[in-house]
Amino acid sequence: HVSADPINDVEQEVKEWARQKKTEIDELRTQEKFRRDFLSNISHEFKTPLFAIQGYIEAIQDDEFDDLDMARDFLTKASRNVDRLSYLIKDLDEISKLETGEMAINYSKFKINDLIKEVFESMEMKAKQHNIKLIFKQKYDEPIAVNADREKIIQVLVNLIDNSLKYGKEGGSTSISLFELHDQVLVEVTDDGIGIEEKYLPRLFERFFRTDTSRSRQIGGSGLGLAIVKHIIEAHQQTINVRSTESLGSTFGFTLQKSKQSLQFPNIPVLKN
Ligand code: ADP
Repeated sequence: HVSADPINDVEQEVKEWARQKKTEIDELRTQEKFRRDFLSNISHEFKTPLFAIQGYIEAIQDDEFDDLDMARDFLTKASRNVDRLSYLIKDLDEISKLETGEMAINYSKFKINDLIKEVFESMEMKAKQHNIKLIFKQKYDEPIAVNADREKIIQVLVNLIDNSLKYGKEGGSTSISLFELHDQVLVEVTDDGIGIEEKYLPRLFERFFRTDTSRSRQIGGSGLGLAIVKHIIEAHQQTINVRSTESLGSTFGFTLQKSKQSLQFPNIPVLKN
C-alpha cells in the first residue's frame, strides 16, 4: 500500500498522538487537583477539633485556673472533640478501603424488615435525644429477603438515619418505607427536617461535601457519611438517590437485590420411614 500523501499521514499521526497526550495530561491534572483538595479538606477537618482540645488543655494548665467544675466541663468538651477525631479517622479508613476496592462485599441472605427494626432499636436513644420519632412503615405482610452485605447495609442505614436526626426537626419524625420492585427492593429514609437546596443535590455524595447552611456547620460531621453510603450501594451494583425540598425534608432511597430463594421454608424436613 503506497500512500497518496505520506506527509499528511504523518501529520495526522502526530496530531492523534498529541490529542492522546493532552487527554492523559488533563486526567493527571484532575487527579492532582483532587489530591490537593482532599489533603486540604482533611487538614481542615482535623484542625478544628485539635485546636479546640489544645484550647481546653491550655486553659486548665494556666496557673490561675482553680475552678474544678469548669475543669470538668472543659475536659468533657475536649473529650467530645477526641471522639470527633476518632470518627473522622474511622470514616477516612473506611472510605480509603472502599475506594481502593479493598473492601469485599460479603453477600448473605437476610430479611430487610428485621434489619431495619434492629437498626431502629440501636438508634432509639439518639432519636429520643433529638426528640424525633422513628417510624417503620410496614406495607407488606411478608418480610422481604434480600441478598447483600448485612454489616454494610447496617452502616448505610445508620448513616442515613443519623443524618435524618442531625438535620431533622425537633418533634418531627424519620420514617423508613419499603417498596417491592421486580427483583429489587427500594428502601426509603424520609425526614421532615431542614431539607437541602436544589443546587446542592448533585454534589451531596461527594467526599467532604457539606451544605453551607449555618446549621449544617454547627452540626458535627465529617462530610464523609454519604460518600461512604454511595460507595457501599454501588459496590452492590445498586443505586442511591435523593429528593429534597428546602425546609420541608429529604428522602434518601436505595435499592437492594431481592433474594431469589424463599425464606419461608428454609429447611425441607427429610422423611424417614
Ligand atoms: P456530614 O453529615 O458528616 O456532614 P454527610 O456526607 O453525611 O456528611 O452529608 C453531607 C451533607 O449533606 C451534610 O453536611 C448536610 O449538609 C447534607 N445532608 C445530609 N443528609 C441530610 C438530611 N437528611 N437533611 C438535610 N441535609 C442533609
